[in-house]
Parts: sequence; structure tokens; C-alpha cells
Amino acid sequence: MMEGAFQKVLLLKSDCEQADLIEEKLSKVNSKLQIDALRLSEYTAETVSKNNYKTIVLDYRLPKQDVSAILAQLKKDRVLAPIIVPFGNDNGEILIKAVKHGATDDVVVHEKDYLTVLPQVIQKTIDQYQLDICWRNLILNSKRKLQNTFDAITDIIFQINHKSEITMANRTLANLCHTQPEKLIGRKFYEVFGQSHTAASIVSTFRTCEPINFEETINGEIYEIRSYPVFGENGKVELVTAYCKNVTEKKHLEKSLIQSEKLAAIGLLSSGIAHELRNPLNIIETARYFMSEFLPVEDQEMRDKLEIIRKNIQRASSIINNLLEFSCNSQQEREPIHLRQIIENTISLIGKQLSSHNIDFSFVSAEDYVAYFNADSIKQALLNIIINAIHAMPNGGRLTISVEPYGRDFVNVRIADTGVGIPEENLPHIFTPFFTTKEVGVGTGLGLFVTHVLIEREGGKVSVQSQVNEGTTFTLTLPRFKEK
Ligand code: ADP
Ligand code: MG
Repeated sequence: MMEGAFQKVLLLKSDCEQADLIEEKLSKVNSKLQIDALRLSEYTAETVSKNNYKTIVLDYRLPKQDVSAILAQLKKDRVLAPIIVPFGNDNGEILIKAVKHGATDDVVVHEKDYLTVLPQVIQKTIDQYQLDICWRNLILNSKRKLQNTFDAITDIIFQINHKSEITMANRTLANLCHTQPEKLIGRKFYEVFGQSHTAASIVSTFRTCEPINFEETINGEIYEIRSYPVFGENGKVELVTAYCKNVTEKKHLEKSLIQSEKLAAIGLLSSGIAHELRNPLNIIETARYFMSEFLPVEDQEMRDKLEIIRKNIQRASSIINNLLEFSCNSQQEREPIHLRQIIENTISLIGKQLSSHNIDFSFVSAEDYVAYFNADSIKQALLNIIINAIHAMPNGGRLTISVEPYGRDFVNVRIADTGVGIPEENLPHIFTPFFTTKEVGVGTGLGLFVTHVLIEREGGKVSVQSQVNEGTTFTLTLPRFKEK
């Protein structure tokens, strides 16, 4: 017979001789049972776990206190196998009880029949135990499968009962709480995820019996939350499943997309208008010129007025030129741009302005990074941002330009000043055309708008971080040049 066909049974015996008889008889009656006999004093948890006993039989002659002691010990050692405990009484009868997994009923036998009946009881107990194990494994398996399915989902999923206790949580939620999914079970879900409003909405699913859909910001992240009722057999909501998807990035993307589209539309519109204004402006300028030519030299008052007209015509044309700049040359040629060189060239253009404003300049770049972009667009963008930085530091300060890679495909150019900073309420508007906080004549409100359009239309990105009274950092994210 194969070894695997044996069912190992442990007989824990007292010291008396008759135990050996039991052992002998048992193995004779049922050849499938392999009996190991141990004296109580020889019992160790290790022997039991090593041998994978299908059942443990106590000797019926064991004193009562020994029986309770060994039962307690087996429980402490987490022995799963069923235990058969026979109790003898004064009438020469023995009551056989199976502890745990023992669906076998208690059996009362006469002492003389004990050894005949015991193997049947053992076999029945073992069969029941095997069946229980099968079921348990089946249940455990499907539970594990369900958990694995939930864990594979990268959004948060958890289930709660009527007491708002978590009955199931997936790994995404557990990771967020720096723990294991099973450790979340039994905890109130609102202590783990969300806030009072989230909790109220999810719990209300028990009442409404309908799925609920809402959006909520939790710890600065935006979540799309859905909660679904799970009906029990009685038709009542037994559990509620909550599904929470982090949509922060999507929302930001949507927002910036709307912003870019808005900007592009305004750009198109205003460049059209700019074009139309150019002719009348030229006519006004020509008229002004004639008037100044024919004006008597001594008419100073009139000359002053004409000078005001001239200045304003100039201002209007600079706005028009700015607007036309990015609408005319939409056929931009891209080329490899050595960022160190283009930044140094730009700085040399306005170096004088920096020193006259007491601004220290520094350039930080670990190596010569190369972007793939249009040179004019970068120059224009850098100039616009640097001029703003100079305006932001009327009493001097520090301008730092640094270049560093961003992922494998991009490179970041950061232009940081230590100036007045941008109040939070202005941040959403700085790229909008004609938004300016500067005096008339100083600002046109077009610099950042043009910068935004020039950089983004070629696959770059402009972002800003600012702290009032501490400074502002603009970041240009540009595609990196890759040699084929
Ligand atoms: P302008 O410079 O003509 O006002 P811009 O589009 O260049 O127009 O800038 C818009 C506004 O953004 C500025 O008026 C200013 O309020 C703000 N701003 C831009 N850059 C900075 C900076 N480095 N520090 C503080 N504020 C800035
Ligand atoms: Mg500007």
C-alpha cells in the first residue's frame, strides 16, 4: 500500500499497559489507520505538526485532569485535527466524544465493545474532517480569488456593513493607509478613508438602496466615488460596496486643456483684430507726422499733445506686434537647442538691466542638455519671463536659471526669482491676454500669454509656482532632443 494511503492517528496514552493493547487492536481492525502512540509526557507540538495526524485519540483511562490539561494544550498549539475523547464511567460503559469537526454523534459503548467501535468512530471523524477541510479550502480559495480580483484593481474598493465597519478592502486602500488589507477589516471606514461628508453619503446607500455617485476632495486629491448596495437573501441591503477613483490628474488636465483652448481662441481672435487695427493706426501715425511737420515751432502745447499721441501709437503698435508675432510664424522650424548656449545668449541681451537692478544671476546645469524646439520661441519665452522677474525685484534680488532632465523625454528649464511673488487669486489669470498688475505704459499683459502659446503649441509646457514676498518660479518643460 502506498504511504499516502495511510491515515495517521495519534494515540495519546497513559502509562498503563492496556494502552498498548488498544494500539495493537486498532491497527489490526482497520488496516488503513496508522497508529502512533505517545505517552502524554512525550507530547510536543512539533511532533503533531510534523506528522499531519488526521485525528488524535485520547486513552480512555487517562485521569480527568490529564484530559483537560491535554485538551487545553492542543488548543494552545492550534492543532486543527479533531480529537476523540472517550470517558469511562463506573457502569463499565464508555462515552466517546469527538471534539471539533466531530459531526459524529456521541457514542456510548460497553467497555468490552470499545475496541470494535472505536475504529469506526475514528474513520467517521476522519472522513468528516477531510470533508470540512475540502469545504474550507474551497471557501478560502474563492475568498482569495475575490480578494485577488479586488487587489488587481488600482482604484480603491471596500465594503462596509451596517455598523460602518470594513468587511473587505483592497490593496489600493491598504497601501494608502500603509497597512495590509486584512488589517483594515473591522475598522470604521471613515477613520480610514474620507471625511464626514463622504461617510454620510456612502452610509446613506443602506437607506436609499440605490447606487450613489459623487465627487469629493480628500487630502487634496479629487475622488469620483460610487457606492453600491449589496442585497442579502432577505432582499435587504446587507453591505455597501464603495468604489473610489482618483481623478485629480484627469481634472487638472481637463482644466488646463480648457485653459489652453480658451487662450488659443482668444489669441486667434485678438490677432485678427490686431491685423485690422494696423492700417488705421498707420493712418493716424501719418496724420500725426504731418501735423507735427506743419505745426509752428512755438506752439509747445500742441507739440506736447502730439507727443502724447505718438507715445500711445507706439504702445498700440507694440501690442499689435506682440499679438501678430505668434500668429504669423505658425510654421515653426524645430531644431536641436543647446540650452546652456541659448540661455547665456539671452542673458547677455539683458545683462545690463540685471546689474542695474542689483540682481545676481546664476545658472545651474549638470550637463549640456539639448532640447528639440524652435529657437525663437524659447528666446522669446525666456525674455518675457526674465523681464517679468526683473519687474518683480525692484530692490534687487537673485535670478536663478537651472536646467534638469524631466523623465527620459523632457527637460525642465526653471527660472526662479526672489521677487514680490504672485498672489494666489492672480495665479489663474496670469496667462490670460491683457491681464496685468502693472501701471499703464509698463505692462501690456501679453508677455505670459505669448509665452504660453509659443511653448505649448510645440508640445512644451509652462507652469508656475509662487509665494508672495518670497518669489516666483516659472518652469518650461521642453521635449528633449534624441539622437537617432
Ligand atoms: P505684464 O508683464 O505686461 O504685466 P505678463 O503677461 O508678462 O504681463 O504678466 C502678467 C502678470 O503676471 C504681471 O502683471 C504680474 O502681475 C504677474 N507676474 C508675471 N511674472 C511675475 C513674476 N516673476 N513675479 C511676480 N509677478 C509676476
Ligand atoms: Mg511681462
